[in-house]
Amino acid sequence: MTPRSQRTISRAAEVTGFGFLTGADVRLTFHPAAANHGIAFLRTDCDSAPIPARVEHVAPRQRRTALSYRGVTVELVEHVLAALAGLQIHNCLVTLNAPEPPGLDGSCRPFAEALWDAGIVDQGVPREAMTIHHAVRAGSLEQRQWVDAMPVGADAGFTVEYTLDYGPQSPIQRQSARYLVTPEIFLREICWARTFILESEVAALRSQGYGQRVTAGDLLIFGARGVIDNALRADDECARHKLLDCIGDLALIGCDLRGTVSAFRSGHQLNAETVRQLQQSHAAQLAPVARRAA
Ligand SMILES: [Zn+2]
Repeated sequence: MTPRSQRTISRAAEVTGFGFLTGADVRLTFHPAAANHGIAFLRTDCDSAPIPARVEHVAPRQRRTALSYRGVTVELVEHVLAALAGLQIHNCLVTLNAPEPPGLDGSCRPFAEALWDAGIVDQGVPREAMTIHHAVRAGSLEQRQWVDAMPVGADAGFTVEYTLDYGPQSPIQRQSARYLVTPEIFLREICWARTFILESEVAALRSQGYGQRVTAGDLLIFGARGVIDNALRADDECARHKLLDCIGDLALIGCDLRGTVSAFRSGHQLNAETVRQLQQSHAAQLAPVARRAA
């Protein structure tokens, strides 16, 4: 497979809204960046260095992905990362004037549309890619939660599959989604899938002071009888959203992936663990080559 060119956007693009967690008004701007810059976040509301979107900077959090670097944290970055990765934009500085990006409609479509409208340009420098040669698994059958990263044919690109299963009592039915990740398929099938939460979890978050501005119109809130005051965009919208989260989290590897990733009930922590295992597996494969070359 010939290496793809690195890509960035041709002009800055802005998205505004409020953060789902903190409720803070926020202006987020995507800026073009030079080849080999990668993705980084810069908080302009405090004394922040650019925070590289790499797995080594993931901060431990429940139900979200946060990045922390030199004492500054940016929360809930996964949907921004998914929009960039889904559109295969490799170099971008993301500035924001609050601790978290806007939550918008709970999907990453507004981010993807802003990036698409800005225009995406090839930079003429090959994009690094990691081909999965040996299967790795994060999580386990015992945990009822795992991510398998598996090899496929050399020209097969990157496919992600997600299955969720919260049991027969859950208002969210067992469902799966599987897509080859290309910008066209991401825009058409994935980017609009919204995040979801149970009514009971909303109450717990609000009691901790989070999510005060969020209403049932802003994302999917499931009560005992299904979605509250909202309508699904597809029967499998929840599985597609979890797949979107996987795409964002797996982008923390910082290069293209070639292979298939199949996730069962995984969350952000397990997705990050998958990235670490892939890095270790890849380093172990390269070690004998490096020794022969030395
Ligand atoms: Zn999400």
